[in-house]
Amino acid sequence: MSVQVQSQVSLKPYNTFGIEVKAQYFAQAHNDDEVRQLLAHAAERQLPVLVIGGGSNLLLTADVPALVLRMASAGVRVLSDDGQRVVVEAEAGEPWHPFVQWTLAHGLAGLENLSLIPGTVGAAPMQNIGAYGVEIKDVFAGLTALDRQTGQLHAFDLEQCDFAYRDSLFKRNPGRWLILRVRFALSRAQQLHLDYGPVRQRLSEQGIEQPTAQNVSDAICSIRREKLPDPAELGNAGSFFKNPVVSAQLAAQVRDAHPGVVGYPQADGQVKLAAGWLIEQAGWKGFREGDAGVHRLQSLVLVNYGQASGGQLYALAQRIQADVLARFGVELEMEPNLY
Ligand code: FAD
Ligand code: NAP
Repeated sequence: MSVQVQSQVSLKPYNTFGIEVKAQYFAQAHNDDEVRQLLAHAAERQLPVLVIGGGSNLLLTADVPALVLRMASAGVRVLSDDGQRVVVEAEAGEPWHPFVQWTLAHGLAGLENLSLIPGTVGAAPMQNIGAYGVEIKDVFAGLTALDRQTGQLHAFDLEQCDFAYRDSLFKRNPGRWLILRVRFALSRAQQLHLDYGPVRQRLSEQGIEQPTAQNVSDAICSIRREKLPDPAELGNAGSFFKNPVVSAQLAAQVRDAHPGVVGYPQADGQVKLAAGWLIEQAGWKGFREGDAGVHRLQSLVLVNYGQASGGQLYALAQRIQADVLARFGVELEMEPNLY
């Protein structure tokens, strides 16, 4: 086998929480052939396989008794271009934000609201990454995945991925599909989404009245840098809880008891409550116990001040979930993938 497999490898550099656990075996795959070699190697030894990208949506609670296969494949290409609509394909191991910057540098709009999200292209469909009113499903043109049960390649279209809020077919079937490359339908026309959060305001503060997609990306990067901790400085996995989407009846009950609650009506009549508001009202913002804590500016983000274990962060998350349930009757669901 040409690809190198190491044993007892620290995963600290490979997860943005900076949690110190070991992989029994670890290898990086740079192309489809290496992926297949590694899966065969693991199958021969009856080893489970955990596929990772940038490790920015993981909570590792113990050493991983598996082959950790990190996707490191590279390559971005234009598949079709009719002058307006351009389909671009990127390999799973491409880092997400540099890929977004590549599309913008080529005059292609569509991914600008998803700027500065850590991680890789291959993991983006897992939870249908979203920010500032755009999700990848909005610009999705297909993906190729390897079925780990059969070894066959499968091309997925939008409908087959069954994308939902921070969710997809792939997230609901952990370990089945290994995403190899993803396609996006981007546009030379600048149909921008500016009406979410403080985006328009930031552009107007900068004196930009007719923004380009690159302007929107820059504005979102500046907002995100102000609000979110940089994992290189403070370990975190972004939002630790999904915003709960609850029935209109439950939302009304919460609002009666807590008139300030932040909620957004959904097309299906349900209401998306801001989990950050609930956690902050419950008094957890800035909480710290040992090295596990809740960020002082953003209560949706759990942080590792240095030596927190995954178990300590998970215990903190469970305390927050129980408290929010007791106070508001609302269940918070974890967003990162727990191992
Ligand atoms: P990993 O954490 O490595 O893996 C995540 C899951 O996907 C795991 O279950 C893994 O097994 C699986 N996986 C990874 N690659 C593949 C593959 N090729 N094939 C099959 N399965 C695979 N998320 C948002 O949606 N919106 C945001 O705005 C956002 N902001 C963030 C900000 C910060 C500071 C941080 C730290 C995180 C943020 N996230 C956000 C979460 C995270 O960055 C995204 O979910 C990202 O897509 C995860 O990519 P990754 O490569 O790091 O995945
Ligand atoms: P924010 O702008 O302070 O807004 C708080 C919450 O309210 C957000 O979570 C957002 O939900 C919701 N919201 C705000 N405006 C909305 C609108 N017009 N319509 C519907 N819902 C609205 O949020 P933030 O924490 O700074 O994050 C900004 C964006 O980046 C959000 O989209 C957020 O999801 C995304 N983000 C995600 C992660 C992650 O790890 N998943 C981390 C950081 C930021 P939504 O989350 O549903 O958009």
